[in-house]
Amino acid sequence: MTLEERYQQLEDAIRGYNPGANFQQIRAAYEFAVKSHDGQLRKDGSPFVTHPLAVAQIVAEELHLDSESIIAALLHDTIEDTAATHADIARLFSPTVADLVEGVSKLTRVHYTSKEQEQMENLRKMLMAMAKDIRVILVKIADRLHNMRTMEYQTPAKQKQKSYETMEIYAPIAHRLGMQKMKWELEDLSLKYLDPVGFKEITDALDAKAAEYEGFMDATRRQIEERLAQSRIDGIVYGRLKHPYSIYRKMYSQNKGLNDVFDLIAFRVIVDTVADCYNVLGIIHDLYHPILGRFKDYIGTPKPNMYQSLHTTVVGQSGIPFEVQIRTREMHEVAEYGVAAHWKYKQNGQGAGDEKNYEWVRRLLENQEGADAEEFIHSLKVDMFADEVFVFTPAGDVINLPAGATPIDFAYTIHSQVGNHMVAAKVNGRIVQFDHKLNNGDVVEVETSPSAHGPSRDWIKIAKSSNARSKIRQWFKKERRDENIVAGKASFESEIKRTGITLKELTNEENLPVVLNKLNYNSLDDMYAAIGYGGVTALKLVGRLREEINHILRAHQNTAAGEPEAEEPERTGPERHVPGSHGIVVEGIDNCLVKLAKCCTPVPGDDVVGFITRGSGVSVHRADCPNAAPERRKSDEDGRWIKVSWADKTGAQYQATLEVVSRDRPDLMVDISTVISSTRTQFRGLSAQIIADGSVLVTMDVIVSNAEQLHTVMRRLEQLSGVVQVARPAK
Ligand code: MN
Repeated sequence: MTLEERYQQLEDAIRGYNPGANFQQIRAAYEFAVKSHDGQLRKDGSPFVTHPLAVAQIVAEELHLDSESIIAALLHDTIEDTAATHADIARLFSPTVADLVEGVSKLTRVHYTSKEQEQMENLRKMLMAMAKDIRVILVKIADRLHNMRTMEYQTPAKQKQKSYETMEIYAPIAHRLGMQKMKWELEDLSLKYLDPVGFKEITDALDAKAAEYEGFMDATRRQIEERLAQSRIDGIVYGRLKHPYSIYRKMYSQNKGLNDVFDLIAFRVIVDTVADCYNVLGIIHDLYHPILGRFKDYIGTPKPNMYQSLHTTVVGQSGIPFEVQIRTREMHEVAEYGVAAHWKYKQNGQGAGDEKNYEWVRRLLENQEGADAEEFIHSLKVDMFADEVFVFTPAGDVINLPAGATPIDFAYTIHSQVGNHMVAAKVNGRIVQFDHKLNNGDVVEVETSPSAHGPSRDWIKIAKSSNARSKIRQWFKKERRDENIVAGKASFESEIKRTGITLKELTNEENLPVVLNKLNYNSLDDMYAAIGYGGVTALKLVGRLREEINHILRAHQNTAAGEPEAEEPERTGPERHVPGSHGIVVEGIDNCLVKLAKCCTPVPGDDVVGFITRGSGVSVHRADCPNAAPERRKSDEDGRWIKVSWADKTGAQYQATLEVVSRDRPDLMVDISTVISSTRTQFRGLSAQIIADGSVLVTMDVIVSNAEQLHTVMRRLEQLSGVVQVARPAK
């Protein structure tokens, strides 16, 4: 066939499904490819351009893709193998076509040397991640398919290597994208070179079976067709032998001989509607004896790669088992061509222009999750739209890093010693800065030196992976203790200053043991060192010290002011023992010692009741305090419960405890403090804890003049968004 005849064959194929294709540009692409590849020959001696022509033919005939994909297929080897550039193609055709060709070239440049399974998975992910446009993958798979079809001219070593790649990388990708037809062909071609003996054994046996079963298959097909006609169902029935690799895999995974492999024959029934699928299933089960446990409804529950079909296995005449797959025409297209079929529907439905928007693929793939997704879609989802980047070591291993990763991340992923001794980094052979952002497919090389200074502190900020950051911190922790102490002390001191207290006060003899104990450090130097290497921030430590700091601060202020604590007696000490009368009038007794009960923290305005204690005066409870409840009073104490009331005295301050239960939300604490301060109230203690069901319990001590003020605060707190309850506890 002449080149021109081959080209005409391509145009015919395109015209068959897309009469409105851009034939002018397609012809131009063909001519550009002829010119660019001029003088190059394939291994079989034919002009090189027969290869891109054949790839375009696959893209048209088997995938029915758009004009841009056809053009990209025709040009797919020009950037890699000829003088043509991205700019040339962008100018002559379009930037999109140039990007597609560039994308295919990038995938072509990826070399596979590793043989480990884990590496293969990473390679598949890398390819998917590199192909920003799904059409790049589709053209690349067509390219690989044609190379596999014409592999006989390559050396045996090359045949094995390419076949291995195809089996491990391209066939699984085709499977993930739901392209069963290409997947099978890729697998069978690979098997042919990977295990020529096994392949021949199976194909010979299949040929023999084909002859043996010919009559049976014809009869069965006619039988099904008749019953469809009787039931007025429009349907097409095919019978076929299963493809060699699927049989090969069953034989090896189940350790069986060919005659023991259960189902060599499969029938397919293609109908118009989903309802007909189930009707046909009924007919098949009526005609033949179904094998228990072999029915699968992939229409109700599609496979993760969007495959839909009903499967059943039945036993036909003379006891020969066979599988029947029943699906609609559209399901069939998807089964054969996968993502490419969806691409086609999309294109017909919405026209050109939004090809760049791959939301539909994304959704499609994301929706697969949770289905039957064991091997895959989870990773595919990460892959194409990724927060990961895949790069190579000089030895060809794939290293998987978070998106935005730098040579620092790479080095520490290889080994902490590589990171700690890194003096220079190269990406694709060029020296780069350490903060250089790595891209998919980059080959990264790190130079180390035994006399390296070690990491710099900036690296912690530059590194993207927590692994690298923690290894850098480890280094600082170990290697630079003295420096860390100095750096840590400086940042701790400046943080402390903002609280209004000096480092000296915090770390004086009296306070230091409390502080260290609170923070779990053995010595002050240990604490500084931890801050210095970045294990903890000064801000965080000071936060944890807040209570202690307040304590010290108050002691400090009181001393400075030189005032006694009389005005606000509850202020210090956990005892809250209150001298003075607190504005309480005890009936019949003047000037007696009174204290306000800690359990219920009464304030003026509350109904109160007094209890004469042994030796510490009258204890005043709220009337609703459980401890003062009449039913709990012991009979011998009856006479000791007395009436008390609030004097009209103003100016005194009282401490009351409040508990707020709220939905956890951002800024809750800020809003609570705003309420408190807007009511001109102060608070002393404030603590928050997460309680059951994720709510927060905020406990605080507020200082009020009377119950009215307290109720105002409570009402305002109740109005805050998320707040469920505001209460005064009485324990
Ligand atoms: Mn090629």
